[in-house]
Amino acid sequence: MSIRVRKDDCDGCGICISCCPFSAIRLADEIACIDLDICTLCGACVSECPSGAILIDQAVGESLSSHKGVWIYGEIAEDGGGPHRVVYELLSKGRELADSLDTDLSVVFIGDANPTEDFTEAVIRRGANKVYIVKHNLLQEFMVEPWTDALVELVEKYRPEILLAGATSEGRSLLPRVAARLKTGLTADCTELDIDANGLLLQTRPAFGGNIMARIICEYRRPQMATVRYKVMKEAEIKERTGKVIFEEFNPRKYQTNLIQHVIDKTQKIKVEDADIIVSGGRGLGDKKNFALLEELATLLGAALGSSRPAVDDGWIPYSHQVGQTGKTVRPKLYIACGISGSIQHLAGMSSSDYIIAINKDPSAPIFKVCDLAIVGDLFEVVPALMERLEK
Ligand code: FAD
Ligand code: SF4
Ligand code: SF4
Repeated sequence: MSIRVRKDDCDGCGICISCCPFSAIRLADEIACIDLDICTLCGACVSECPSGAILIDQAVGESLSSHKGVWIYGEIAEDGGGPHRVVYELLSKGRELADSLDTDLSVVFIGDANPTEDFTEAVIRRGANKVYIVKHNLLQEFMVEPWTDALVELVEKYRPEILLAGATSEGRSLLPRVAARLKTGLTADCTELDIDANGLLLQTRPAFGGNIMARIICEYRRPQMATVRYKVMKEAEIKERTGKVIFEEFNPRKYQTNLIQHVIDKTQKIKVEDADIIVSGGRGLGDKKNFALLEELATLLGAALGSSRPAVDDGWIPYSHQVGQTGKTVRPKLYIACGISGSIQHLAGMSSSDYIIAINKDPSAPIFKVCDLAIVGDLFEVVPALMERLEK
């Protein structure tokens, strides 16, 4: 074990007891005593002890410095036609991080027929120095167990210092399992990443409903892992670049899950997370049947249909349309919010849209504070009038 209390320096103040999130510390004879079976080596007590009495052994520090490189999990788009666009966003931030650390940027693809050469070309031109590919005929469709095995094996072999993935359903499912297997920390749903003065990954994410921005570091474990929200960062620019492609073996074992069928949600003609225009409806619609009006407007504009959470909770529209903290993060060119008040949880998912039009009959609705164009009025009058104009 690699944490200890220097008895001569500990004055028994007990500060470490209250800061340990795992209740691993107690006082024995007025000296802090750490239960090594419970301690996760999170390091919180080390920085809080005013006497500097708690030490994490040097051996850990040395093994940390043997980890090098920034890695991105290369999620493949649902249609199999290329990397998911979140990978391109991670490449722009990943390049910045790798340059700050003077290290390589790599992408890991896991699959069967995909990834093709086009995939590797696409990520190299967007900044990757290396592409690791794990191919096997058992890796046809994303399944969390074999994917976890493949990624963990690779991380243990090459020891990257940072591992990033999109905060998509796939990333949110895969990375926690990988982090647990590697016994390292993971920050979910980051909106910003940076390197701090000590060369650590500074992971920023909204907390407490977006009221504060939490800045998280993973000091004593590697890799430092984060999932990053889709459409929060800009995509990497394409340039003429060269990179190395490395093929890796996969050794499958017996898994508990079998894939029987892949069912695609066809209720969304255009996915909210990919749309350039979104027409979104909230509780102000009053009834499930009134979504038909917004659907007409969406069709006219070639837009996707979004919603606030109450519309989903009331069964007016499927969850895949929900925008917000517990739904999708979107960044369209135009977002039209109809009968949506603008709660902090809704804004968390759409406030970085390029242009926001809000239609609400309450002039003091919070959505008007973030929108570019405020239309105070009844949506059942405004939307038909808008459609009439558009049709003309
Ligand atoms: P309301 O707040 O009830 O607003 C309805 C608006 O419609 C009002 O402003 C009203 O003036 C207007 N209106 C009514 N009739 C008309 C009309 N005829 N014409 C024009 N305007 C009209 N919410 C999300 O949206 N996404 C999330 O991901 C999400 N995650 C959450 C996570 C947590 C942990 C919690 C606690 C909450 C979350 N919520 C989320 C819920 C959020 O707090 C709000 O309750 C929700 O966003 C409100 O939805 P709304 O604006 O549709 O409804
Ligand atoms: Fe001892 Fe430091 Fe804990 Fe205080 S905070 S009890 S000095 S180890
Ligand atoms: Fe508790 Fe973390 Fe300190 Fe271990 S390192 S005693 S888990 S605060």
